[in-house]
Amino acid sequence: GGRPDEDLLEGLNPQQREAVTYRGPALLIVAGAGSGKTSVLTRRIASLLRGREAWPSQILAITFTNKAAGEMRERVAHLVGDASQGMWISTFHSACVRILRREAEQFGFTKAFTIYDSGDSRALIKRLVKQHEADAYGLTPASVQGKISKLKNELADAESYARSANLSDPAERLFVEIFGDYQRELQRANAFDFDDLIGQVVFLFRAFPHVADVYRRRFRHILVDEYQDTNHAQYALIHELTRPLSGASGAEPVEASNGMMIWGPDTSTGSVSGGGSASGGGSESDGASLTVVGDSDQSIYAFRGADIRNISEFERDFPGARVVLLEQNYRSTQNILTAANAVIGNNFDRKDKKLWTDVGAGEKIIGFTGYSQHDEAQFIADEVDALRRAGIDYSEMAVFYRTNSQSRAIEEIFIRAAVPYKIMGGTKFYERAEIKDALAYLIAVANPADEMALRRIINRPRRGIGDVTIETIARYAVDERITFRDALANSTSLGVGPKIQASIAHLDAVLAEASALMLPTSGELAPPTAVADGLSLLLNKSGYRDALRASKDAQDEARLENLDELVAVAREFARNNPEGTVLDFLTEVALVSDADDLEDSSGSVSLMTLHTAKGLEYDAVFLTGVEEDLIPHRISAGEPGGPQEERRLFYVGITRARKRLYLSLAMTRAQFGEVSVAMPSRFLQEIPVELMHWRQSPGDVNSRGGTQSRALNARRGGFGGSGGSGGSRYGDDLVPLPRRERSGSIEQFANRIPAKVRDNGDMELAAGDRIRHDDFGEGRVDAVTGEGAKRVAHVRFDKVGAKKLLIKIAPIEKV
Ligand code: ATP
Ligand code: MG
Repeated sequence: GGRPDEDLLEGLNPQQREAVTYRGPALLIVAGAGSGKTSVLTRRIASLLRGREAWPSQILAITFTNKAAGEMRERVAHLVGDASQGMWISTFHSACVRILRREAEQFGFTKAFTIYDSGDSRALIKRLVKQHEADAYGLTPASVQGKISKLKNELADAESYARSANLSDPAERLFVEIFGDYQRELQRANAFDFDDLIGQVVFLFRAFPHVADVYRRRFRHILVDEYQDTNHAQYALIHELTRPLSGASGAEPVEASNGMMIWGPDTSTGSVSGGGSASGGGSESDGASLTVVGDSDQSIYAFRGADIRNISEFERDFPGARVVLLEQNYRSTQNILTAANAVIGNNFDRKDKKLWTDVGAGEKIIGFTGYSQHDEAQFIADEVDALRRAGIDYSEMAVFYRTNSQSRAIEEIFIRAAVPYKIMGGTKFYERAEIKDALAYLIAVANPADEMALRRIINRPRRGIGDVTIETIARYAVDERITFRDALANSTSLGVGPKIQASIAHLDAVLAEASALMLPTSGELAPPTAVADGLSLLLNKSGYRDALRASKDAQDEARLENLDELVAVAREFARNNPEGTVLDFLTEVALVSDADDLEDSSGSVSLMTLHTAKGLEYDAVFLTGVEEDLIPHRISAGEPGGPQEERRLFYVGITRARKRLYLSLAMTRAQFGEVSVAMPSRFLQEIPVELMHWRQSPGDVNSRGGTQSRALNARRGGFGGSGGSGGSRYGDDLVPLPRRERSGSIEQFANRIPAKVRDNGDMELAAGDRIRHDDFGEGRVDAVTGEGAKRVAHVRFDKVGAKKLLIKIAPIEKV
């Protein structure tokens, strides 16, 4: 006998069991890192299915990344088999895209809408800022974009914002205008930006309760992982979904709170079938049951509007909610956990919870201080090698850093040392110009209303269509009240020269041919390979590939390979989604996040930012650049709550490690060829010394490093794991951190340059020479000072102005 889910409970502790088996309207699971939150959520889903308490279609589970969604889906499938089909396990964004594809027609969009990524919306905002001449008022595209995003995360729109804004301030007035225009442009292009994906679903549900009811009827069990990182819009979405049925007939739409979105009711709805009648989760007139799991100590997305209060106020929002606490950690050794507890204990305003494990103390945390980031990277490569020989697989090791630019030094050394590695951050590929071009071709076919995509490709490859022609086409479209796309199809009426007219006609024909292939008319189903074939057709017949082939630029070779890779991605997509349309493909590509790999990461070390590391675990973790100004990051200093958020980020990093944790830093850090002295992060001092074993402490480096600045000297002993300062934990001469001074001239640190990857030797350079720098572009040398390895070039760059560079190591060459 026994329960049908007995094996699901095997090995769980009593609190975890309760989290799996509790049935009621609302359940909050709060717990520290590695205590089984995600595992429990997965088993809870399996348990609902096993006990036939829910149909798969009645389950909506939200994870933080697509990758996490994939893993959860796989685990549930493993536990319940085929019964897992039809569940929605996805990120907030993916779930909302699915809803919008079904419902977009309700409010003036079509289901072929484009998803604007941050680069796309930046381009649009840039155009509007220019149009409104808003830079004169201090509005930059970046600041406008940031503010719009923040407002959208709070579910504000241009109108509601205008009501509270101080409109006597011309900058505010301009902002409101730009915000409004931006939204109108998006709608005209049949496009949503990232924040809209969520916000517009909330607006839709509020404006059309009968549409919301369709989803309320369908989703009887809603489960959310990483709840601490939900923003207000996501919170509101969950609220809308868990409300009891409104019973609205759909005949009378409620006035939308964001006036412009609603174009009148469409009563012929019913586009979504409910998931059958609920057999579990209460009657339909009750709201869905909601389970959320989270850890307020791991909230690291406040800068994107995440609101920790969503977790602390859960009990207020859902009266009668059951709260389950998990404290036993199943991931890390006690040393790692003690360090994590000690660090996070320095944050105020938090509920104290102590993670513990019964696996034992484990190894000490290893500390290392390099002379430079290359030295640090070399240490990591050596250790990776040693761990490998000790039987730990590459795929069980990860290197974390605070900012993307830190990966470069690590990559350089890994390449030399032949350590296979993989950078997590799939978006990079999709940010490449040639990939964006290729996708713009697809979008131009799939969503002809998207003028921005058309403008992007209209002269790529070059076909003699300049700005004047583009404006001619745009004006013709306005005059004739047709779309930009349709204007292309009327090339003969545009009044342009015969050559240009032929170019336009050719482009129109290519797009039409691809459209016929990928979007067969009603009833027919496109063949599975349609997307890949259509993409190839577009790239070939448009002349895009030929132009790259004909180019002498070595980079264009790589661009061709990237395009092949994209076609391969499309073929792979067809294999996994035989009925997937070009829209599905574009959705998938648009929602690739930093945590999603393009390729299989098995057999290689994973490199990623601390933000990306959330939710993951590895046997060995290298947390690098543990320096003031990196972690905590310089930009956090002025933000309210910034340093605390940085501490949480550090905590997230530490708690990813199962067995081995390395904390490393560099005494000098060269970024863009400018060398600055780094200081140990304050977080290092928060770890009890007895947990650390310093292979090379900051003190060691200092005493061997030649010239010593007073600031560095002052901290000696503080980290003297090997120096042994006795007595007080950090030694008596410790200067209290944090200190934000940057002492020492650039020449002083030249002494510490170790054997480097980049060595320009005695490159001859004199005033008047022109050089090219990897990051800064071209410039003119004004003067050269110093001697030998300490020679400094004073350069005036054409684009970025004056910089001082250490000639020996700066990524420069003479031109
Ligand atoms: P994070 O806060 O980092 O997201 P989490 O709370 O979601 O962590 P999980 O990832 O679910 O924790 O679990 C951490 C590890 O502990 C996983 O490897 C999981 O398989 C394991 N684990 C969880 N519960 C148990 C248990 N009862 N017995 C053995 N292992 C467990
Ligand atoms: Mg988790």
